[in-house]
Amino acid sequence: MKSSINLHIDEVEALEEESLRKKYKPDDVRRIKDFKANKTIHEHFMKEALVQARKAAKNGDVPIGCVIVMDGEIIARSYNKRNKLKSALEHAEIICIRKACKKLEDWRLDNATMYVTLEPCQMCAGAIIQSRISEVYIGAMSGKAGCVGSVVDLLHVGKFNHAPFTIRGLLEDRCSEVLSDFFDKLRLEKGTK
Ligand SMILES: [Zn+2]
Repeated sequence: MKSSINLHIDEVEALEEESLRKKYKPDDVRRIKDFKANKTIHEHFMKEALVQARKAAKNGDVPIGCVIVMDGEIIARSYNKRNKLKSALEHAEIICIRKACKKLEDWRLDNATMYVTLEPCQMCAGAIIQSRISEVYIGAMSGKAGCVGSVVDLLHVGKFNHAPFTIRGLLEDRCSEVLSDFFDKLRLEKGTK
Protein backbone atom coordinates (compact mmCIF):
# COMPACT_ATOMS: atom_id res chain seq x y z
CA MET A 1 0.00 0.00 0.00
CA LYS A 2 1.23 3.48 -0.80
CA SER A 3 0.74 6.39 1.56
CA SER A 4 1.62 10.01 0.87
CA ILE A 5 1.71 10.78 4.57
CA ASN A 6 4.92 12.08 6.10
CA LEU A 7 3.76 14.44 8.83
CA HIS A 8 5.34 15.83 11.96
CA ILE A 9 3.36 15.01 15.09
CA ASP A 10 2.60 18.73 15.61
CA GLU A 11 1.00 18.85 12.16
CA VAL A 12 -1.03 15.75 13.00
CA GLU A 13 -2.26 17.31 16.25
CA ALA A 14 -3.29 20.48 14.42
CA LEU A 15 -5.32 18.66 11.75
CA GLU A 16 -9.05 19.24 12.01
CA GLU A 17 -11.52 16.59 10.99
CA GLU A 18 -12.70 18.56 7.96
CA SER A 19 -9.26 19.35 6.52
CA LEU A 20 -8.26 15.73 7.12
CA ARG A 21 -11.01 14.47 4.85
CA LYS A 22 -10.36 17.11 2.19
CA LYS A 23 -6.61 16.56 2.03
CA TYR A 24 -6.06 12.84 2.37
CA LYS A 25 -7.18 9.46 1.09
CA PRO A 26 -9.67 7.55 3.29
CA ASP A 27 -7.07 5.00 4.29
CA ASP A 28 -4.65 7.72 5.44
CA VAL A 29 -7.47 9.52 7.28
CA ARG A 30 -8.26 6.29 9.13
CA ARG A 31 -4.59 5.82 10.06
CA ILE A 32 -4.17 9.43 11.23
CA LYS A 33 -7.27 9.10 13.43
CA ASP A 34 -6.05 5.78 14.72
CA PHE A 35 -2.69 7.33 15.61
CA LYS A 36 -4.34 10.19 17.50
CA ALA A 37 -6.57 7.79 19.44
CA ASN A 38 -3.70 5.48 20.37
CA LYS A 39 -0.84 7.90 20.90
CA THR A 40 0.20 6.40 24.24
CA ILE A 41 0.60 2.97 22.63
CA HIS A 42 2.83 4.47 19.92
CA GLU A 43 4.82 6.28 22.60
CA HIS A 44 5.22 3.02 24.47
CA PHE A 45 6.87 1.41 21.44
CA MET A 46 9.11 4.43 20.89
CA LYS A 47 10.21 4.12 24.53
CA GLU A 48 11.17 0.52 23.74
CA ALA A 49 13.24 1.80 20.81
CA LEU A 50 14.90 4.25 23.23
CA VAL A 51 15.83 1.35 25.54
CA GLN A 52 17.61 -0.16 22.52
CA ALA A 53 19.31 3.15 21.66
CA ARG A 54 20.88 3.34 25.11
CA LYS A 55 22.42 -0.10 24.62
CA ALA A 56 24.27 1.19 21.55
CA ALA A 57 25.84 4.01 23.57
CA LYS A 58 27.38 1.47 25.94
CA ASN A 59 29.39 0.07 23.01
CA GLY A 60 30.50 3.49 21.88
CA ASP A 61 28.00 3.44 19.03
CA VAL A 62 25.80 6.43 18.24
CA PRO A 63 22.63 5.67 20.25
CA ILE A 64 19.97 4.80 17.70
CA GLY A 65 17.36 2.17 18.50
CA CYS A 66 14.61 0.47 16.60
CA VAL A 67 11.72 -1.94 17.15
CA ILE A 68 9.35 -3.59 14.68
CA VAL A 69 5.81 -4.29 15.82
CA MET A 70 3.16 -6.56 14.39
CA ASP A 71 -0.34 -7.16 15.80
CA GLY A 72 0.54 -5.10 18.86
CA GLU A 73 3.66 -7.08 19.71
CA ILE A 74 7.35 -6.37 19.25
CA ILE A 75 8.74 -8.96 16.80
CA ALA A 76 12.24 -7.48 16.48
CA ARG A 77 14.37 -5.02 18.39
CA SER A 78 17.87 -3.78 17.85
CA TYR A 79 20.30 -0.89 17.99
CA ASN A 80 23.11 0.60 16.00
CA LYS A 81 26.09 -1.80 15.97
CA ARG A 82 28.25 -0.08 13.36
CA ASN A 83 31.20 0.33 15.72
CA LYS A 84 30.68 -2.90 17.64
CA LEU A 85 30.61 -5.04 14.48
CA LYS A 86 32.95 -2.78 12.47
CA SER A 87 30.54 -2.59 9.58
CA ALA A 88 28.89 0.38 7.91
CA LEU A 89 25.82 -1.78 7.23
CA GLU A 90 24.87 -2.63 10.80
CA HIS A 91 22.33 0.14 11.41
CA ALA A 92 19.53 -0.48 13.93
CA GLU A 93 16.84 -0.58 11.21
CA ILE A 94 18.72 -3.05 8.99
CA ILE A 95 19.37 -5.46 11.89
CA CYS A 96 15.73 -5.14 12.96
CA ILE A 97 14.39 -5.83 9.45
CA ARG A 98 16.66 -8.86 9.16
CA LYS A 99 15.41 -10.20 12.52
CA ALA A 100 11.75 -9.60 11.67
CA CYS A 101 12.09 -11.33 8.28
CA LYS A 102 13.75 -14.30 9.94
CA LYS A 103 11.04 -14.53 12.55
CA LEU A 104 8.21 -14.34 10.00
CA GLU A 105 10.10 -16.43 7.44
CA ASP A 106 9.13 -13.85 4.86
CA TRP A 107 10.88 -10.90 3.23
CA ARG A 108 7.60 -8.98 3.16
CA LEU A 109 6.84 -6.98 6.28
CA ASP A 110 3.74 -5.32 4.90
CA ASN A 111 1.75 -5.57 8.11
CA ALA A 112 4.59 -4.36 10.28
CA THR A 113 5.27 -1.02 11.92
CA MET A 114 8.72 0.39 12.61
CA TYR A 115 9.64 2.73 15.48
CA VAL A 116 13.07 4.30 15.15
CA THR A 117 14.63 6.94 17.40
CA LEU A 118 16.42 8.78 14.57
CA GLU A 119 15.40 9.58 11.00
CA PRO A 120 16.60 6.73 8.74
CA CYS A 121 19.51 7.16 6.31
CA GLN A 122 19.35 6.38 2.57
CA MET A 123 20.30 2.72 3.11
CA CYS A 124 17.65 2.14 5.77
CA ALA A 125 14.98 4.07 3.87
CA GLY A 126 15.76 1.75 0.94
CA ALA A 127 15.41 -1.31 3.16
CA ILE A 128 12.07 -0.01 4.49
CA ILE A 129 10.77 0.24 0.91
CA GLN A 130 12.21 -3.15 -0.05
CA SER A 131 10.61 -4.89 2.95
CA ARG A 132 7.34 -2.97 2.42
CA ILE A 133 6.97 -1.93 6.05
CA SER A 134 3.55 -0.39 6.37
CA GLU A 135 4.08 2.36 8.95
CA VAL A 136 7.16 4.20 10.21
CA TYR A 137 7.34 6.34 13.35
CA ILE A 138 10.43 8.50 13.76
CA GLY A 139 11.71 10.22 16.91
CA ALA A 140 14.36 12.86 16.17
CA MET A 141 15.31 14.19 12.76
CA SER A 142 18.82 13.92 11.32
CA GLY A 143 19.33 17.20 9.49
CA LYS A 144 22.55 16.35 7.67
CA ALA A 145 21.95 12.68 6.86
CA GLY A 146 18.27 11.81 7.20
CA CYS A 147 16.46 10.56 4.13
CA VAL A 148 12.84 10.76 5.29
CA GLY A 149 12.46 14.51 4.91
CA SER A 150 15.75 16.19 5.89
CA VAL A 151 18.15 15.72 2.97
CA VAL A 152 15.52 14.05 0.83
CA ASP A 153 12.34 12.06 1.43
CA LEU A 154 13.08 8.72 -0.20
CA LEU A 155 10.03 7.09 1.33
CA HIS A 156 7.65 9.46 -0.44
CA VAL A 157 9.14 10.30 -3.82
CA GLY A 158 5.94 8.82 -5.22
CA LYS A 159 7.44 6.65 -7.93
CA PHE A 160 8.39 3.57 -5.95
CA ASN A 161 5.95 0.69 -5.62
CA HIS A 162 5.72 1.21 -1.88
CA ALA A 163 5.45 4.18 0.48
CA PRO A 164 4.85 3.77 4.21
CA PHE A 165 2.56 5.93 6.31
CA THR A 166 5.05 8.04 8.27
CA ILE A 167 4.87 10.24 11.35
CA ARG A 168 7.90 12.18 12.61
CA GLY A 169 8.62 13.74 15.98
CA LEU A 170 7.27 11.00 18.27
CA LEU A 171 8.98 11.57 21.66
CA GLU A 172 11.32 13.84 19.74
CA ASP A 173 12.83 15.51 22.82
CA ARG A 174 13.79 12.24 24.47
CA CYS A 175 15.19 10.83 21.23
CA SER A 176 17.30 13.97 20.70
CA GLU A 177 18.42 13.96 24.31
CA VAL A 178 19.86 10.46 24.19
CA LEU A 179 21.97 11.59 21.20
CA SER A 180 23.11 14.90 22.67
CA ASP A 181 24.01 13.18 25.98
CA PHE A 182 26.16 10.74 24.02
CA PHE A 183 27.99 13.45 22.08
CA ASP A 184 28.40 15.65 25.20
CA LYS A 185 30.02 12.73 27.01
CA LEU A 186 32.26 12.02 24.04
CA ARG A 187 33.43 15.65 23.91
CA LEU A 188 34.04 15.63 27.64
CA GLU A 189 36.14 12.46 27.42
CA LYS A 190 38.18 13.85 24.56
CA GLY A 191 38.70 17.08 26.46
CA THR A 192 40.08 15.35 29.54
CA LYS A 193 42.57 13.23 27.66
ZN1 LIG B 1 20.59 3.69 8.34
